Amino acid sequence: MIYAIISDIHSNLNALEAVLDFIKDAKVDKIINCGDIVGYGTEPNECIETLKKMNNILSIAGNHDWATIHNDIEDFNPAAMKAIIWTQKELYTENISYINLLETMKEQENFMFVHGSPRIPLFEYILGVSQASPNFYQMEKDICFIGHTHIPACFKYNNGEVEAVPFYPEEPLDLSVEGTRYIINVGSVGQPRDGDPRASVCIYDTKNLLLSLYRVKYDIISTQRKILKAGLPGFLAFRLEHGI
Ligand code: ZN
Repeated sequence: MIYAIISDIHSNLNALEAVLDFIKDAKVDKIINCGDIVGYGTEPNECIETLKKMNNILSIAGNHDWATIHNDIEDFNPAAMKAIIWTQKELYTENISYINLLETMKEQENFMFVHGSPRIPLFEYILGVSQASPNFYQMEKDICFIGHTHIPACFKYNNGEVEAVPFYPEEPLDLSVEGTRYIINVGSVGQPRDGDPRASVCIYDTKNLLLSLYRVKYDIISTQRKILKAGLPGFLAFRLEHGI
């Protein structure tokens, strides 16, 4: 099977459409979406409806999806909080139901996927080895795909040792090493934060156990205009062109 793995769309329809075009060309069997469909951007309904039309996608909830439904917003920074309140007003009832039904963890073949981390699926940020290490003991599968930090990353566990492995676009990772476990952050579609403003998408081939990261250009200026026109904080537009 060939999977496309994405995360953190954040209501950025331009980025989502560019990534879906890329995925179409890559001829994947299934799409895995690690959560945060909404928040930050201005097209939550359009993004949800785009995903709903697809019959080959598995999605889970992220912390922004959860916060939008449950109004659990006090831990968010002011810009994120404003965007969630805005999203709550915009979302159609049927799309609220769609988000509300998302689970927080799923499995496929030899991998699992969560938004944040295996031990605290919605909320924990795995930024380095110290957060990754305890999570390797919470995994039912050898590979876990995550999002949440918006920064592509790979952490590897072998024989009690955990290390960060370089993970760059178009330099495939070989996940076939016996006795090794991986936690892989697939980056963000709608709001990358690793200094590269292009949308992130991973392609995972379970036949040869190779995983590749790709970055896809999209119309950032148009997305920025929509954010400013909606009256959302200017920083949410500014950050997109810098990938921060
Ligand atoms: Zn996010």
